[in-house]
Amino acid sequence: MEDKLKQLEQDFQAALKGINTPEALKELENEYLGKKGKLKAILWGIKDLSIEEKKTIGVAANELRDSFTSALAGAEADIESAYYKEIEAGQAIDVTIGYPSKNRGHKHPLSHTTELLEDIFISLGFKVEDGPQIEDEEHNFDKLNIPHNHPARDVWDTFWISDDINKDKSIGERLLLRTHTSPVQIRTMMSQELPIKIIVPGRVYRYEQEDARHTCNFYQLEGLVVGEGVTFGDLKWTLDTVMKDLLGEKTEVRFRPSIFPFTEPSAEVDVSCQICSGSGEKNKKRCSMCSGTGWVELLGSGMVHPKVLEYCGIDSTKYSGFAFGMGIDRIAAQRFGVSSSRMFYQNKLKLNEQF
Ligand SMILES: [Zn+2]
Repeated sequence: MEDKLKQLEQDFQAALKGINTPEALKELENEYLGKKGKLKAILWGIKDLSIEEKKTIGVAANELRDSFTSALAGAEADIESAYYKEIEAGQAIDVTIGYPSKNRGHKHPLSHTTELLEDIFISLGFKVEDGPQIEDEEHNFDKLNIPHNHPARDVWDTFWISDDINKDKSIGERLLLRTHTSPVQIRTMMSQELPIKIIVPGRVYRYEQEDARHTCNFYQLEGLVVGEGVTFGDLKWTLDTVMKDLLGEKTEVRFRPSIFPFTEPSAEVDVSCQICSGSGEKNKKRCSMCSGTGWVELLGSGMVHPKVLEYCGIDSTKYSGFAFGMGIDRIAAQRFGVSSSRMFYQNKLKLNEQF
């Protein structure tokens, strides 16, 4: 009987050496320690032994079972640790390996154009300002000389924040998606010392019918200069310099009289169309970017209305200023020769990857 137990132990140790998966280990456990296992089978023979022998073999069998159990547990821990070591080796990150430079992506044409404009204006001494896209009525309209119920409000087709939020607010406090970057002019004039010389690039929203030149959200760049002795001549020189710098020396800039509530006098600023070189025709067809006129309206501008200065606590008899706002989308379309600025929002990689 003792010989059988010794043989069993030798067989078990030999079998254990060749095992390297949890499944095989479980099988070995069943084979030796299970209900119908080899150890049990030997113990069935115990009943024919003397009481003295039964005791000795019983103790030896228990010891053997304990030694099998602990050997199995040790092997299980080894297999698990080998398994994780393998994963570690396979998935380790080597930070010294160079990342493939292919397909790294690049800036969107609108970001690219915004940065170009910022660089040009910064070189002329402007500071870049930012403001909230959810704006209140007072900053978006009232303080810009567009009071409640003024017909001029119809020009800015507005996305109002839902009635649930606005219903308890009084006129002036009601929230909307800013229709232009101009509220940042107000915020700056009310909080900063004079002189002011800022630009405000940012996203704006209009409830508009979409076509080649209109989208319901677009990027605008606003400019404001306020100080002593600021004139319309300064405005003309600034915009002419910026447009030539941005679109090329041959770019022509024209000012047309216009009306805006927040500037007086006011002017629309057109540049010669870059798509058709100002001819109005592209491939013998009417140019869709300029509707065949050869000019593209890029900016609204003018001298800051004295009322707007006064609303912001600035003495309009002592200080003057000019302001302008341009559509970054249209400028990007002109600069990159894209016939519809709406295409910038269509996530077409084939378009974006060209720039
Ligand atoms: Zn054109």
